[in-house]
Amino acid sequence: MAPKIYINGKLYDKSEAKISVYDHGLLYGDGVFEGIRVYDGKIFRLKEHVDRIFESARAIKLEIPLSKDQLIDAIRKTVEANDKKNGYIRPLVTRGSGSLGLDPRKTSDPQVIIIVDDITMYPPELYENGMELATVSTIRNHPNAVNPRIKSLNYLNNILAKIESIQAGCLEALMLNHKGEVAECSGDNVFIVSKGVLMTPPTDAGILEGITRNAVMELAIGAGIPVRELSMTRHDLYIADECFLTGTAAEVIAVVKCDGRVIGNGKPGPITRQLREGFQKLVRS
Ligand code: PMP
Repeated sequence: MAPKIYINGKLYDKSEAKISVYDHGLLYGDGVFEGIRVYDGKIFRLKEHVDRIFESARAIKLEIPLSKDQLIDAIRKTVEANDKKNGYIRPLVTRGSGSLGLDPRKTSDPQVIIIVDDITMYPPELYENGMELATVSTIRNHPNAVNPRIKSLNYLNNILAKIESIQAGCLEALMLNHKGEVAECSGDNVFIVSKGVLMTPPTDAGILEGITRNAVMELAIGAGIPVRELSMTRHDLYIADECFLTGTAAEVIAVVKCDGRVIGNGKPGPITRQLREGFQKLVRS
C-alpha cells in the first residue's frame, strides 16, 4: 500500500502529497521535525517526542498550529490510516510559504506533515558484531549558533559529518563540540562503559537530548548500573571497555572500533548487550 501522508489535517497519497516551493522549510531549512517508532502497533514515547517538537518549535519561535493533544491524535490517526504496526513516523512542521527572504514574519501557513513509512536500520550484522566510527573534522553546531537541542529541518551539520564518515569507510561519524569534547554522532547519541560505569556527554556538550538516550539511562539506573553525564574526550572513548550508540532508528548498537582503535575486546560488551535487550523489551512492553 502506498503511504498516506498527513498534511494539515488531510491524508494524501504519497504522489499527491505536495507543499509550496516557497515554503521556508525548503528554502532555508526553517522548521522542526521528529523521528518516532511504532512497535507492534504501540508508538514508543509519543508524548516525549511531541514535547520535544514543541520545544524545538519554541526555540525557533515557530508556532505549531495544533495543540500537543491534537498533534498526538493526528500522529495516531496517520499510523492507523497506514495500517503500520511496525515502522517509522516522521512528523514535521515548516515555517510555511513566504517571500524569497529570510524574514519569518513574511511567511504564512506552517505546514504540519506526518509521514509513516518503513524503518531503515543499520545492517543486521552490525547489531551482532558492532560497528565502527570515524571522528570527523566537522564539529557539532556551536550551541550559540543552532543549538543541537533543536531538531531543526536544517541537518546540514550532520550531513557534512555523515559524508566525512562515509568517505572514511564508516556508517557513523563521531562529532566533537567546539571545545574538542565528544558530543554525539550524526544521528545518534554516544555512550561508553568504563569500569562498570555508564557515561554519556551531558546536554550542554551540544547534543540532541535523545529520547532513546534517556530511556537507556533509566534502564541502566533500574538495573543498578551507575550512570554519569560527563564531558569526555576521544581518549576516553578509545580506552573505554565498551561503547554504544542510541537513537530512534538505531535503537542500541555496539561500537567496537573508532578511528582504527579497537574498543574493549572488539566485541559488543556485556552491559551494551544487557541494555540492548532491556531496550527491546521496553519498546514492546
Ligand atoms: N542525535 C541526533 C543528532 C539525532 O538526530 C538523533 C535522532 N536521530 C539522536 C541523537 C537520537 O535521538 P532519539 O533517541 O530521540 O532518536
